[in-house]
Amino acid sequence: VQQRPYRLWRTLLPWLVGALPIVCGTLILYWQAERELHGRSEDSAQQVTAQFERILDNISAAAKELLPLAGQPCETEKLALRDQVTRRAFVRSTNLEYRGELYCSSLFGSYSEPVLANNYFHGTLWLMSGNSVTPGHPLLVYRITESEGGAISTVDGDHLTNALRLFDPDNRLILQVGRYWMDENGRVVDGPVPTAEVAAAQVTSTHYPFSIHSGYGAGKVGQLMRSEFPALFALFVILGAMAGVTCYWQLRRATSPRAELQRAIEANEFVPYFQPVVRCGDYRWAGVEVLMRWQHPRDGLVRPDLFIPYAEHTGQIVPMTRQLMQRTAELLAPVANTLGDGFHIGINITADHCQDLALLDDCKAFLGALPKGRVRLTLELTERKLITPSEVTQALFAGLHDLDVQIALDDFGTGQSSLAYLRQFQIDYLKIDQSFVAMIGVDALSLHILDSIIELSSKLGLGIVAEGVENEAQRDYLAQHNVDFLQGYLFARPMSAEAFIQALEAQRLVQVTVHKAPAPLNG
Ligand code: C2E
Ligand code: CA
Ligand code: CA
Repeated sequence: VQQRPYRLWRTLLPWLVGALPIVCGTLILYWQAERELHGRSEDSAQQVTAQFERILDNISAAAKELLPLAGQPCETEKLALRDQVTRRAFVRSTNLEYRGELYCSSLFGSYSEPVLANNYFHGTLWLMSGNSVTPGHPLLVYRITESEGGAISTVDGDHLTNALRLFDPDNRLILQVGRYWMDENGRVVDGPVPTAEVAAAQVTSTHYPFSIHSGYGAGKVGQLMRSEFPALFALFVILGAMAGVTCYWQLRRATSPRAELQRAIEANEFVPYFQPVVRCGDYRWAGVEVLMRWQHPRDGLVRPDLFIPYAEHTGQIVPMTRQLMQRTAELLAPVANTLGDGFHIGINITADHCQDLALLDDCKAFLGALPKGRVRLTLELTERKLITPSEVTQALFAGLHDLDVQIALDDFGTGQSSLAYLRQFQIDYLKIDQSFVAMIGVDALSLHILDSIIELSSKLGLGIVAEGVENEAQRDYLAQHNVDFLQGYLFARPMSAEAFIQALEAQRLVQVTVHKAPAPLNG
């Protein structure tokens, strides 16, 4: 049974893994697009600055040339003013100033207007939203002074807005002169310059007191990504899909029953449980059957019928049984003295084991790990799956016989083994299936089969073990019919190694005290 958070996690993981390349890729593309826009923004700010400097170079040159004329009568100098307008590019008008008054203009000749020096940023530049000649039409005014005189030249705002519009139409460029700024629409505003949402850049001229602000509106990064990187984005989507599918596939593979069993073998998760087998008569422990349990890290102790059939199907039962035998030998070796001589140890094997001589080595290793003659190894071979005889099986059973390993035919009565089968594999014991034992006192026909099995085994000289003995009626019936050994919940349930060893020790102490104690009064 899988736990819910685990299942949720398993479902989510492939999606997360699949989303990772897409998210990372999109972030990288976003970063790349931002960098690109920053580069572009800075570039156009630089270029516009250079263009404005070229314009200002022209109008400042005109003003510089006219400055020595400041204070001279307008009538004599107005032609020189017009000459500058005609000769120099970008110059819209030129003017002369003397003692704070604009007294001569290229447009009107003699004129009179106060010069507001405070409007000129750094005393040099004034960005005007319009003047008396062209109200509402921006212009940039350049002024140069010397003692009481000064020269003023202007450039039309159209030259400036053209330059601001020259680049990428999405690139918002702003000219700032002191407290005034102007955008590409020629709107002059008195106040702080708004900062662009994306790729804001600012370049300040080193020659004249103005700055150019550049940047893009929100959404420009996404727009650039869509237009420039569709192929890369598609690549990340494909990578994401591949990663997700691979993860899903790996998860499935890692949690396939075969992989899970393999993992458990490597983690030594299969542990032996022990169920005693008692001798008829005194009902003392004559042996034990080793039953496999899966100590699952998440699901706890797992019953063998849930995983043994699959392990038999994949052949993994062979290494699992090998591990189980090693583990059993390791556990019992230190307490071997508490086992009576010839104590039976039953290990369940399957037909698959019988096609491989390695089982001989496993048995040798098992017996070698325990004091010689102390235990009797019995292999319990289920009758449900018949062995196909071959040279290997013959060699194997002969070898087992030489090792004095006994063979018990498990679940007897449920399969279809013939007498020839019993002889061929030199069977020593029959284990009557618990379904027949359960019929004692219930079903007369089954009881007949049980009686026949008991009779057959005594005629063939085979030992007989009855499993699944759960009550005294069953015990007594089997005892009356001379069954040699009994196994079942009535005597003991399968128990952990720890419990089994403790019980062994307790039994030994009881025996010691019984031997030493005086005979009871009644007996
Ligand atoms: P099995 O070999 O016939 O083992 C006897 C089963 O009967 C055990 O179930 C045991 O717990 C149960 N049992 C014992 N006494 C009673 C009783 O009085 N009443 C009832 N109702 N049941 C009783 P378990 O341990 O669940 O094992 C089930 C089966 O799994 C085994 O049947 C055996 O076929 C297989 N198995 C267990 N361990 C191994 C193993 O190491 N290798 C292989 N190949 N098969 C194994
Ligand atoms: Ca068995
Ligand atoms: Ca059985």
